[in-house]
Amino acid sequence: MKEIGEIYNFCAGPAVMPVPVMENVQKELRNHGGSGMSVMEISHRSEAFKGILADAKSRLKALLNVPDDYAVLFLQGGASLQFPMVPMNLGKGAYVITGRWAQKAYEAAALQKKGVAIDGSADKDFGYIPRIDPASIPKDADYLHICDNNTLYGTRYFEPPETGGVPLVSDMSSCILSRPCDVRKYGLIYAGAQKNIGPAGLCVVIIRKDLLERPVDESVPLMLRYRTYYEFDSMYNTPPTFSVYVAGLVFAWLQDLGGLAVMEEINKEKAKLLYSAIADSALYINNVPPRDRSIMNVPFRLRNRALEPKFLEEAEKEGLMNLKGHWSIGGIRASIYNAMPMEGVKKLVNFMQKFERENL
Ligand code: PMP
Repeated sequence: MKEIGEIYNFCAGPAVMPVPVMENVQKELRNHGGSGMSVMEISHRSEAFKGILADAKSRLKALLNVPDDYAVLFLQGGASLQFPMVPMNLGKGAYVITGRWAQKAYEAAALQKKGVAIDGSADKDFGYIPRIDPASIPKDADYLHICDNNTLYGTRYFEPPETGGVPLVSDMSSCILSRPCDVRKYGLIYAGAQKNIGPAGLCVVIIRKDLLERPVDESVPLMLRYRTYYEFDSMYNTPPTFSVYVAGLVFAWLQDLGGLAVMEEINKEKAKLLYSAIADSALYINNVPPRDRSIMNVPFRLRNRALEPKFLEEAEKEGLMNLKGHWSIGGIRASIYNAMPMEGVKKLVNFMQKFERENL
């Protein structure tokens, strides 16, 4: 039996939420804005919900400095629905395969005969980010797809690749809002909510408006066209109302904190502490080149892999939860998203050092 405040949750997603947001949700759960009703209980067509949606959208725009020629859309289906939607709406894509999610995005496009893989990092178990030569992008590519932060392997693009004018599409599920982002460098950004935005069930899409004009095959259902979400202001059907509401609270929390530049500094400090602890140790290893290291997901191994189950078991006893690496990879992974406080990382590092002293 664990109590609130006794644990730190390092889950890769759905992930830890900011405490003030959870407290706010709890406070307003049954009576939102003095209406006597929960957000869960009100119509998406009500003025109250329209206000919630407009507020969430404008806060997200402010945080990311989204220019006016970009649309912010709220969808469902997780990031995985974006894998097929991107080629359905944008055409043929060139894909950089930097891990499992990038691979799945490519496969969804390939199924539609619209995907070509141009580069990747499978040769080193996805342990780095390849430097993309714009000349390698096929002339007929309608976009270049990347996965900005590779949740499983702890790699990230330090900066967006040059594309020579081809619109860049980025899966930012596990890094959105972790640092400032120049939206202008992208044609389309998408992110499943359950890491840095809010509850699962919501997916945010930021798309340059001219891309909404691209011809879409007439067989594509309206629900799978970005244009539909744009024309109906994300209300073609019932949006995931509660998730949008919580996302709005998370955006407000980030604004109160001082915005994404402040968030980035905090995230960099947390990541630095953890990566330094790994580098200084004789037990833990992370082989990602420093420039490519994620500041959100930090996977590592123990030199003696047989000790990993013991590490996880003892960590849990200390209240350090969900440190197990992805099932396809194994090892340890600490996800230190925006809502993970510095104290959580300090506690993890102290535990790692103690474990090393006791087991080396
Ligand atoms: N892309 C990335 C980078 C992810 O980390 C994940 C989920 N962990 C996904 C896509 C898939 O997201 P969803 O489960 O929301 O479809």
